[in-house]
Amino acid sequence: MEISNVAVIGSGPAGYTAALYTARANLDPVLITGLSQGGQLTQSSSVENWPGASDFPSGLDLMESMRLHVEKFSVRCVSDDVESVARAEDGFAIALTDGSVINARAVIVATGSSARYLGLPGEDRFRGGGISACATCDGFFFRKKTVAVIGGGNTAVTDALYLSNLAAQTHLIHRRDEFRCEKILTDKLYQAVESGKIRLHLSCVPLSFEGREVLEGVRIRDLKTQEESLVAADGVFEAIGHDPNTGFLGDLVETDGGYIRLHPETGFSTATSVTGIFAAGDVADHRYQQAIVAAGAGCRAALDVEAFLGGRTV
Ligand code: NAP
Repeated sequence: MEISNVAVIGSGPAGYTAALYTARANLDPVLITGLSQGGQLTQSSSVENWPGASDFPSGLDLMESMRLHVEKFSVRCVSDDVESVARAEDGFAIALTDGSVINARAVIVATGSSARYLGLPGEDRFRGGGISACATCDGFFFRKKTVAVIGGGNTAVTDALYLSNLAAQTHLIHRRDEFRCEKILTDKLYQAVESGKIRLHLSCVPLSFEGREVLEGVRIRDLKTQEESLVAADGVFEAIGHDPNTGFLGDLVETDGGYIRLHPETGFSTATSVTGIFAAGDVADHRYQQAIVAAGAGCRAALDVEAFLGGRTV
Protein backbone atom coordinates (compact mmCIF):
# COMPACT_ATOMS: atom_id res chain seq x y z
CA MET A 1 0.00 0.00 0.00
CA GLU A 2 1.35 3.40 -1.01
CA ILE A 3 1.29 5.89 1.83
CA SER A 4 2.04 9.60 1.59
CA ASN A 5 3.59 11.55 4.42
CA VAL A 6 0.88 14.15 4.31
CA ALA A 7 -2.33 14.83 2.45
CA VAL A 8 -3.53 18.41 2.28
CA ILE A 9 -7.26 18.74 1.64
CA GLY A 10 -8.40 22.01 0.10
CA SER A 11 -7.03 24.50 -2.41
CA GLY A 12 -7.63 27.89 -0.87
CA PRO A 13 -4.79 30.00 0.53
CA ALA A 14 -4.44 27.65 3.54
CA GLY A 15 -4.22 24.50 1.42
CA TYR A 16 -1.80 25.90 -1.14
CA THR A 17 0.45 27.33 1.57
CA ALA A 18 0.45 24.04 3.47
CA ALA A 19 1.29 22.19 0.24
CA LEU A 20 4.07 24.64 -0.58
CA TYR A 21 5.72 24.39 2.83
CA THR A 22 5.42 20.62 3.14
CA ALA A 23 6.81 20.23 -0.39
CA ARG A 24 9.77 22.44 0.40
CA ALA A 25 10.33 20.38 3.56
CA ASN A 26 10.71 17.33 1.28
CA LEU A 27 7.56 15.70 2.63
CA ASP A 28 6.26 15.05 -0.88
CA PRO A 29 2.65 16.05 -0.06
CA VAL A 30 -0.44 15.14 -2.01
CA LEU A 31 -2.84 18.05 -2.44
CA ILE A 32 -6.49 17.14 -2.85
CA THR A 33 -7.84 20.29 -4.43
CA GLY A 34 -11.56 19.54 -4.56
CA LEU A 35 -13.44 19.57 -7.85
CA SER A 36 -13.74 23.34 -7.84
CA GLN A 37 -10.26 24.62 -7.17
CA GLY A 38 -9.15 27.82 -5.51
CA GLY A 39 -11.71 28.25 -2.75
CA GLN A 40 -13.78 31.27 -1.90
CA LEU A 41 -11.25 33.84 -3.01
CA THR A 42 -11.92 32.88 -6.62
CA GLN A 43 -15.18 34.76 -6.20
CA SER A 44 -13.52 38.09 -5.36
CA SER A 45 -13.40 40.56 -8.20
CA SER A 46 -10.37 42.33 -6.83
CA VAL A 47 -8.12 41.49 -3.90
CA GLU A 48 -6.77 44.68 -2.39
CA ASN A 49 -5.32 43.35 0.86
CA TRP A 50 -2.84 40.72 -0.25
CA PRO A 51 0.58 42.19 0.61
CA GLY A 52 2.71 42.74 -2.45
CA ALA A 53 -0.14 42.35 -4.92
CA SER A 54 -0.49 46.08 -5.46
CA ASP A 55 -2.07 45.59 -8.88
CA PHE A 56 -5.14 44.21 -7.06
CA PRO A 57 -5.49 40.90 -8.92
CA SER A 58 -8.82 39.13 -9.18
CA GLY A 59 -9.22 36.30 -6.68
CA LEU A 60 -9.19 33.89 -9.60
CA ASP A 61 -5.81 35.18 -10.80
CA LEU A 62 -4.35 35.16 -7.30
CA MET A 63 -5.39 31.55 -6.73
CA GLU A 64 -4.12 30.54 -10.17
CA SER A 65 -0.73 31.99 -9.25
CA MET A 66 -0.79 29.92 -6.03
CA ARG A 67 -1.55 26.81 -8.07
CA LEU A 68 1.37 27.52 -10.43
CA HIS A 69 3.56 28.14 -7.40
CA VAL A 70 2.94 24.69 -5.87
CA GLU A 71 3.41 23.09 -9.28
CA LYS A 72 6.93 24.51 -9.34
CA PHE A 73 7.63 22.30 -6.34
CA SER A 74 6.11 19.25 -8.05
CA VAL A 75 3.22 18.92 -5.61
CA ARG A 76 1.01 16.04 -6.67
CA CYS A 77 -2.45 17.59 -7.15
CA VAL A 78 -5.55 15.41 -7.16
CA SER A 79 -8.61 17.17 -8.46
CA ASP A 80 -11.45 15.41 -6.67
CA ASP A 81 -13.69 15.88 -3.63
CA VAL A 82 -13.10 13.93 -0.45
CA GLU A 83 -15.96 11.71 0.63
CA SER A 84 -14.60 10.60 4.01
CA VAL A 85 -11.54 10.38 6.19
CA ALA A 86 -11.02 7.38 8.46
CA ARG A 87 -8.29 6.17 10.77
CA ALA A 88 -6.18 3.48 9.16
CA GLU A 89 -3.09 1.52 9.99
CA ASP A 90 -0.19 3.97 10.17
CA GLY A 91 -2.36 7.04 9.50
CA PHE A 92 -5.52 7.83 7.61
CA ALA A 93 -7.47 6.62 4.60
CA ILE A 94 -8.99 9.41 2.53
CA ALA A 95 -11.79 8.22 0.26
CA LEU A 96 -12.43 10.28 -2.88
CA THR A 97 -15.67 10.54 -4.83
CA ASP A 98 -14.14 8.64 -7.78
CA GLY A 99 -13.81 5.58 -5.52
CA SER A 100 -10.05 5.80 -5.01
CA VAL A 101 -8.37 6.03 -1.61
CA ILE A 102 -5.32 8.06 -0.61
CA ASN A 103 -3.40 6.95 2.45
CA ALA A 104 -1.40 9.42 4.48
CA ARG A 105 0.42 9.52 7.80
CA ALA A 106 -0.85 13.04 8.50
CA VAL A 107 -3.70 15.13 7.13
CA ILE A 108 -4.10 18.89 6.90
CA VAL A 109 -7.75 19.88 6.54
CA ALA A 110 -8.02 23.22 4.76
CA THR A 111 -11.45 22.98 3.20
CA GLY A 112 -12.66 26.47 4.06
CA SER A 113 -16.31 27.36 4.21
CA SER A 114 -19.27 27.76 1.86
CA ALA A 115 -21.80 30.51 1.38
CA ARG A 116 -24.93 30.31 3.49
CA TYR A 117 -28.42 30.75 2.04
CA LEU A 118 -31.49 32.09 3.85
CA GLY A 119 -33.81 29.17 3.09
CA LEU A 120 -36.80 31.42 2.44
CA PRO A 121 -39.85 30.67 0.30
CA GLY A 122 -39.10 31.03 -3.41
CA GLU A 123 -35.36 30.59 -2.92
CA ASP A 124 -35.06 27.10 -4.36
CA ARG A 125 -36.97 28.12 -7.49
CA PHE A 126 -34.67 30.99 -8.34
CA ARG A 127 -31.32 29.80 -7.01
CA GLY A 128 -28.89 29.88 -9.91
CA GLY A 129 -31.45 31.80 -11.97
CA GLY A 130 -31.77 35.12 -10.20
CA ILE A 131 -30.51 34.29 -6.71
CA SER A 132 -26.78 33.93 -6.19
CA ALA A 133 -24.22 34.06 -3.40
CA CYS A 134 -21.43 35.24 -5.69
CA ALA A 135 -21.57 38.76 -7.04
CA THR A 136 -18.29 38.38 -8.88
CA CYS A 137 -19.46 35.22 -10.63
CA ASP A 138 -22.96 36.31 -11.52
CA GLY A 139 -23.03 40.11 -11.30
CA PHE A 140 -22.36 40.52 -15.00
CA PHE A 141 -25.71 38.87 -15.84
CA PHE A 142 -27.42 41.85 -14.25
CA ARG A 143 -25.58 44.62 -16.08
CA LYS A 144 -27.80 47.70 -16.31
CA LYS A 145 -30.53 45.88 -14.35
CA THR A 146 -31.71 46.12 -10.75
CA VAL A 147 -30.10 44.01 -8.05
CA ALA A 148 -30.41 43.59 -4.31
CA VAL A 149 -27.79 42.40 -1.84
CA ILE A 150 -28.76 40.90 1.52
CA GLY A 151 -26.39 41.20 4.49
CA GLY A 152 -24.36 43.77 6.37
CA GLY A 153 -20.84 42.36 6.61
CA ASN A 154 -17.71 42.85 4.53
CA THR A 155 -19.00 40.57 1.81
CA ALA A 156 -22.39 42.27 1.48
CA VAL A 157 -20.94 45.77 1.33
CA THR A 158 -18.14 44.75 -1.05
CA ASP A 159 -20.70 43.01 -3.26
CA ALA A 160 -23.04 46.01 -3.22
CA LEU A 161 -20.19 48.34 -4.20
CA TYR A 162 -19.07 46.00 -6.96
CA LEU A 163 -22.59 45.60 -8.31
CA SER A 164 -23.29 49.33 -8.15
CA ASN A 165 -20.73 49.74 -10.94
CA LEU A 166 -22.54 47.23 -13.13
CA ALA A 167 -26.22 47.49 -12.33
CA ALA A 168 -28.58 50.37 -13.02
CA GLN A 169 -29.73 50.27 -9.37
CA THR A 170 -28.43 48.37 -6.35
CA HIS A 171 -30.38 47.82 -3.14
CA LEU A 172 -28.71 46.75 0.09
CA ILE A 173 -30.98 45.03 2.60
CA HIS A 174 -29.67 44.60 6.13
CA ARG A 175 -31.49 43.44 9.26
CA ARG A 176 -29.83 46.02 11.53
CA ASP A 177 -28.98 49.67 11.07
CA GLU A 178 -25.26 49.16 11.71
CA PHE A 179 -22.84 47.35 9.46
CA ARG A 180 -20.24 44.89 10.65
CA CYS A 181 -17.74 45.75 7.94
CA GLU A 182 -14.49 47.72 7.77
CA LYS A 183 -14.83 51.48 8.05
CA ILE A 184 -13.24 52.08 4.66
CA LEU A 185 -16.09 50.06 3.15
CA THR A 186 -18.84 51.94 5.01
CA ASP A 187 -17.26 55.20 3.83
CA LYS A 188 -17.39 54.00 0.23
CA LEU A 189 -20.90 52.67 0.77
CA TYR A 190 -22.26 55.99 2.00
CA GLN A 191 -20.62 57.75 -0.97
CA ALA A 192 -22.46 55.36 -3.29
CA VAL A 193 -25.69 55.97 -1.36
CA GLU A 194 -25.25 59.72 -1.72
CA SER A 195 -24.67 59.39 -5.44
CA GLY A 196 -27.87 57.32 -5.72
CA LYS A 197 -26.11 54.16 -6.94
CA ILE A 198 -27.06 52.21 -3.83
CA ARG A 199 -30.30 52.37 -1.92
CA LEU A 200 -30.28 51.16 1.68
CA HIS A 201 -33.03 49.21 3.41
CA LEU A 202 -31.87 49.07 7.02
CA SER A 203 -33.56 47.20 9.88
CA CYS A 204 -35.33 45.16 7.24
CA VAL A 205 -35.57 41.38 7.10
CA PRO A 206 -36.15 39.41 3.91
CA LEU A 207 -39.32 37.29 3.96
CA SER A 208 -39.58 35.62 0.56
CA PHE A 209 -38.45 35.72 -3.04
CA GLU A 210 -41.18 36.64 -5.48
CA GLY A 211 -41.68 36.11 -9.18
CA ARG A 212 -43.68 34.14 -11.71
CA GLU A 213 -41.41 32.99 -14.56
CA VAL A 214 -38.38 34.91 -13.39
CA LEU A 215 -37.34 36.50 -10.12
CA GLU A 216 -39.10 39.80 -9.63
CA GLY A 217 -37.85 40.79 -6.21
CA VAL A 218 -37.54 40.16 -2.54
CA ARG A 219 -40.28 40.83 -0.01
CA ILE A 220 -39.02 42.51 3.14
CA ARG A 221 -40.39 43.61 6.50
CA ASP A 222 -39.26 46.85 8.09
CA LEU A 223 -38.61 45.90 11.72
CA LYS A 224 -39.28 49.43 12.94
CA THR A 225 -42.65 49.95 11.25
CA GLN A 226 -43.59 46.26 10.65
CA GLU A 227 -44.52 47.32 7.11
CA GLU A 228 -43.94 44.82 4.31
CA SER A 229 -42.84 45.81 0.83
CA LEU A 230 -41.39 44.31 -2.32
CA VAL A 231 -37.91 45.40 -3.36
CA ALA A 232 -38.09 44.85 -7.11
CA ALA A 233 -34.92 43.18 -8.37
CA ASP A 234 -33.82 41.09 -11.33
CA GLY A 235 -31.06 39.54 -9.26
CA VAL A 236 -30.57 39.00 -5.54
CA PHE A 237 -27.20 38.30 -3.94
CA GLU A 238 -27.17 36.68 -0.53
CA ALA A 239 -24.12 37.63 1.51
CA ILE A 240 -25.04 36.38 4.96
CA GLY A 241 -21.93 34.46 5.95
CA HIS A 242 -20.52 31.02 5.52
CA ASP A 243 -20.56 27.51 6.95
CA PRO A 244 -17.35 25.50 7.38
CA ASN A 245 -16.90 22.53 5.06
CA THR A 246 -16.52 19.64 7.48
CA GLY A 247 -19.29 17.24 6.38
CA PHE A 248 -16.86 14.68 4.95
CA LEU A 249 -15.25 14.30 8.39
CA GLY A 250 -18.42 13.00 10.03
CA ASP A 251 -17.78 13.07 13.77
CA LEU A 252 -14.12 12.12 13.42
CA VAL A 253 -12.82 15.44 14.78
CA GLU A 254 -14.25 17.70 17.46
CA THR A 255 -15.99 20.79 16.19
CA ASP A 256 -17.29 23.94 17.82
CA GLY A 257 -20.27 25.58 16.15
CA GLY A 258 -19.38 23.58 13.06
CA TYR A 259 -15.80 24.87 12.94
CA ILE A 260 -12.97 22.42 13.68
CA ARG A 261 -11.78 22.87 17.25
CA LEU A 262 -8.02 23.31 17.54
CA HIS A 263 -5.94 21.94 20.41
CA PRO A 264 -2.87 24.15 20.82
CA GLU A 265 -2.20 22.62 24.26
CA THR A 266 -0.77 19.60 22.37
CA GLY A 267 2.17 21.74 21.37
CA PHE A 268 0.85 22.08 17.81
CA SER A 269 -1.25 25.17 17.24
CA THR A 270 -3.13 23.55 14.35
CA ALA A 271 -3.73 20.15 15.99
CA THR A 272 -7.28 18.84 16.04
CA SER A 273 -8.76 16.37 18.53
CA VAL A 274 -7.31 13.54 16.41
CA THR A 275 -3.55 13.02 16.58
CA GLY A 276 -2.19 13.35 13.04
CA ILE A 277 -5.03 15.51 11.71
CA PHE A 278 -4.33 19.22 11.54
CA ALA A 279 -6.59 22.04 10.38
CA ALA A 280 -5.92 25.43 8.85
CA GLY A 281 -7.88 28.35 7.46
CA ASP A 282 -11.57 29.23 7.60
CA VAL A 283 -12.60 25.65 8.40
CA ALA A 284 -11.14 26.19 11.86
CA ASP A 285 -11.49 29.95 12.16
CA HIS A 286 -14.85 31.56 12.72
CA ARG A 287 -13.26 34.85 13.64
CA TYR A 288 -10.76 36.24 11.15
CA GLN A 289 -11.69 34.52 7.87
CA GLN A 290 -9.08 36.36 5.87
CA ALA A 291 -7.02 34.88 3.06
CA ILE A 292 -3.79 36.08 4.64
CA VAL A 293 -4.71 34.54 8.01
CA ALA A 294 -5.65 31.28 6.29
CA ALA A 295 -2.32 31.25 4.45
CA GLY A 296 -0.49 31.83 7.75
CA ALA A 297 -2.41 28.96 9.32
CA GLY A 298 -1.52 26.75 6.35
CA CYS A 299 2.14 27.51 7.03
CA ARG A 300 1.72 26.67 10.73
CA ALA A 301 -0.04 23.40 9.89
CA ALA A 302 2.81 22.46 7.53
CA LEU A 303 5.43 23.17 10.19
CA ASP A 304 3.35 21.25 12.73
CA VAL A 305 3.15 18.24 10.40
CA GLU A 306 6.87 18.38 9.71
CA ALA A 307 7.56 18.30 13.46
CA PHE A 308 4.86 15.69 14.12
CA LEU A 309 6.29 13.31 11.52
CA GLY A 310 9.75 13.92 12.90
CA GLY A 311 8.49 13.02 16.36
CA ARG A 312 8.87 16.44 17.94
CA THR A 313 6.83 19.52 18.78
CA VAL A 314 7.53 22.89 17.19
P1 NAP B 1 -20.39 38.10 8.23
O1 NAP B 1 -19.34 39.07 8.64
O2 NAP B 1 -20.73 36.97 9.14
O3 NAP B 1 -21.69 38.94 7.89
C1 NAP B 1 -22.90 38.31 7.59
C2 NAP B 1 -23.96 39.38 7.48
O4 NAP B 1 -25.18 38.75 7.11
C3 NAP B 1 -24.19 40.12 8.78
O5 NAP B 1 -24.35 41.48 8.53
C4 NAP B 1 -25.46 39.48 9.33
O6 NAP B 1 -26.27 40.38 10.03
C5 NAP B 1 -26.19 39.08 8.06
N1 NAP B 1 -27.03 37.91 8.29
C6 NAP B 1 -26.65 36.70 8.79
N2 NAP B 1 -27.70 35.86 8.85
C7 NAP B 1 -28.76 36.55 8.37
C8 NAP B 1 -30.12 36.24 8.19
N3 NAP B 1 -30.61 35.03 8.50
N4 NAP B 1 -30.94 37.19 7.69
C9 NAP B 1 -30.45 38.42 7.37
N5 NAP B 1 -29.16 38.78 7.51
C10 NAP B 1 -28.33 37.85 8.02
O7 NAP B 1 -20.03 37.37 6.84
P2 NAP B 1 -19.18 37.92 5.60
O8 NAP B 1 -19.53 39.30 5.27
O9 NAP B 1 -19.30 36.87 4.56
O10 NAP B 1 -17.71 37.91 6.14
C11 NAP B 1 -17.16 36.69 6.68
C12 NAP B 1 -15.73 36.96 7.11
O11 NAP B 1 -14.93 37.23 5.96
C13 NAP B 1 -15.62 38.17 8.03
O12 NAP B 1 -14.66 37.89 9.00
C14 NAP B 1 -15.16 39.24 7.09
O13 NAP B 1 -14.40 40.24 7.75
C15 NAP B 1 -14.32 38.49 6.09
N6 NAP B 1 -14.30 39.17 4.78
C16 NAP B 1 -13.33 40.08 4.55
C17 NAP B 1 -13.26 40.77 3.35
C18 NAP B 1 -12.17 41.77 3.11
O14 NAP B 1 -11.96 42.19 2.01
N7 NAP B 1 -11.47 42.19 4.11
C19 NAP B 1 -14.24 40.55 2.36
C20 NAP B 1 -15.24 39.62 2.63
C21 NAP B 1 -15.26 38.94 3.86
P3 NAP B 1 -25.81 40.97 11.46
O15 NAP B 1 -24.76 41.98 11.15
O16 NAP B 1 -27.05 41.53 12.00
O17 NAP B 1 -25.31 39.79 12.23
